[in-house]
Amino acid sequence: MIHSSDHNQRRKKRALFKHQAGPFIIFFTVLMPTNCVILEQFYFDLKMDPTTQIISGILVYLSYSLAMWSYYQSITIKNNTIDKAIPIQDNRRIDPLYKNTNSCLECNQWKPIRTHHCSLCGKCILKMDHHCPWIHNCVGLRNHRSFYLFAMYMTIGAMQYSYASWVYFRFLFRSSEGFFAHQSTFFYIYWGLTSLVLYPTCAMLCFLFFYHTSLILNNQTTLEQMKSGSNGNCCIQSDRPPRHINLFDRGTLSNIAWFFNYSYFWFLPFENIYKEDGTKYPISPLCNLQDIQINNPSIPLVQIPEQQFDFDKIDQKYEEYLAFAKLKYKNKRLVLIGKEIQLS
Ligand SMILES: [Zn+2]
Ligand SMILES: [Zn+2]
Repeated sequence: MIHSSDHNQRRKKRALFKHQAGPFIIFFTVLMPTNCVILEQFYFDLKMDPTTQIISGILVYLSYSLAMWSYYQSITIKNNTIDKAIPIQDNRRIDPLYKNTNSCLECNQWKPIRTHHCSLCGKCILKMDHHCPWIHNCVGLRNHRSFYLFAMYMTIGAMQYSYASWVYFRFLFRSSEGFFAHQSTFFYIYWGLTSLVLYPTCAMLCFLFFYHTSLILNNQTTLEQMKSGSNGNCCIQSDRPPRHINLFDRGTLSNIAWFFNYSYFWFLPFENIYKEDGTKYPISPLCNLQDIQINNPSIPLVQIPEQQFDFDKIDQKYEEYLAFAKLKYKNKRLVLIGKEIQLS
């Protein structure tokens, strides 16, 4: 009974969000391109030279077209977990990165590192950043790039509009024929209403753009950023006093390159398909053997060769391997570079 009422509640929530997403979709797909028409009016009236007019026009249409494409990609790309996700009874993956976060009771399957369950999508989301009602989708591993580019192009577009709007306002204000002599009444009303919506939107988009830029530079998600400082996905460096460091931060340039999937066409909102398929991530070189030893000095350490923990082999012969490892390393904490293994 509890399950069915929970299910109904989730369905209601989902329907509500679908309903709320509608106005936003209309806003970004209808209102924003219409602003291009207003901009054209500005340029026409300001009597710019043809070259400037063409360059401004191309910039406006290009940034809005790329924004629309990025927006479409953000909505349609899903961040579902991999198909080979292990059922919950086999969830003890032999890697420290999976501890405490290794199973989802809702989906009844293994949950890789950085994965979170989204109650609105009703699914586990790889490298979940946040659920965004504007796109009626979760921002995660595969669409974080298109979401970021959407914010970037919208910021560029909104700034262009704001600037042109200001220039045109000044032109009308200084005009000898009077402020309202240049356009129809409809234009002034439409311009006013659009500006009313667009200036706050511009401010919000700027914030979103700069916030996500800082996340990319540090290789963090919004969720990780919110809980950084707690023990989340951090490890302790061997400094005194010990400090928390971000497990996935491999340096600014490396983080940027990884975020855009090492693509020369980083400015196009393609889906990010990673070699690592979202189950494992490159880790900071600072997270080394010593860090992990300092975390739990009471447990005896055993050095083992790294090739024994080849991930593909584990996937292939998981059961067999687990039985072997359980027997051999019973009650011991096993450590190799950057990885820690605990078997009971
Ligand atoms: Zn789940
Ligand atoms: Zn979601």
